[in-house]
Amino acid sequence: MGTYIDESNETRNCFEIFYQKEVIEVELEKNNDHTIVTGLTFGDGQCMHDSCKNASYVFCPGEAVGTLRKLGFKEPAYAGFAGVSLLLNIPVPQDKMAEYESFSHCMEVHQEGIVLAWQARMIEGSIFIGVAGTKAFYGDQRPTKDQAFAKNRNLLQLNMINDVLPEFISLALGRDTKGQTLVQADLDTLEQQEIAQRWAGTRAVVFDGFPTLGAAYTPDDTKIDNVVVTTHLGSGGASFGPAAVAVSCCVQNEKCYTKFVS
Ligand SMILES: Cc1cc2nc3c(=O)[nH]c(=O)nc-3n(C[C@H](O)[C@H](O)[C@H](O)COP(=O)(O)OP(=O)(O)OC[C@H]3O[C@@H](n4cnc5c(N)ncnc54)[C@H](O)[C@@H]3O)c2cc1C
Repeated sequence: MGTYIDESNETRNCFEIFYQKEVIEVELEKNNDHTIVTGLTFGDGQCMHDSCKNASYVFCPGEAVGTLRKLGFKEPAYAGFAGVSLLLNIPVPQDKMAEYESFSHCMEVHQEGIVLAWQARMIEGSIFIGVAGTKAFYGDQRPTKDQAFAKNRNLLQLNMINDVLPEFISLALGRDTKGQTLVQADLDTLEQQEIAQRWAGTRAVVFDGFPTLGAAYTPDDTKIDNVVVTTHLGSGGASFGPAAVAVSCCVQNEKCYTKFVS
């Protein structure tokens, strides 16, 4: 983020996103009392030096816990909190189209030690069901959907959905599944038929569970003037993401205290 001068010599705001570029290094410049980032190096070898004038940089590495530290910033003790989601796209036969046309529902389902959130609705001739929310291990390893915990949690999610929406799971598996306990082979079948899609990922968290918002610091506690960080949002981070971004920006600009007390 910064500014540039256009053809008519007017100063305009400049906001750039570089897609599919992994930032592997940042260039820091120390000038008297100020430390600023002046450029980035990407994984493909390309470097970018302040293409906007007076540029500020926003770092939100999320799932990639440890990125701040790798880039030379201070990062609190962190961990990834693994979890999985399950997406089902169940084709609806013609004779059921009218019945399900306006189907749209969401719910939180509780079992001992587990809380799942799901949403389901008709999308282009299929019933879409998305379910996520089971938690697994903390660690600094990247979870994959082929690990035992992921398969086990996805099967649990399928069974919980079968408890609340058995008519759709019956449609997907071609048999009456109401009241049944589904097994791994059922989930494998749904995956092979491309009805089920499984995903494993991490919620980024730090030791006190609080997000990391505001300015970036070097490991010796020097504030970096032109960097805003919004990361370690953890569970529920999608819901409070916009608020986290707002707090980050005002903390970095040191307007936060006055804003919140006034
Ligand atoms: C299974 C599961 C269920 C969840 N359920 C919910 C829920 O029901 N409700 C809710 O509100 N939240 C939920 N969350 C949490 C929510 O998904 C996260 O808090 C949120 O996605 C965090 O957003 P983010 O933008 O900070 O990070 P991410 O979504 O992780 O985005 C970070 C981005 O930065 C990119 N990146 C990282 N490092 C680099 C680098 N070096 N260079 C360039 N790019 C980089 C990544 O590729 C990625 O695109 C869930 C999370 C999981 C894992």
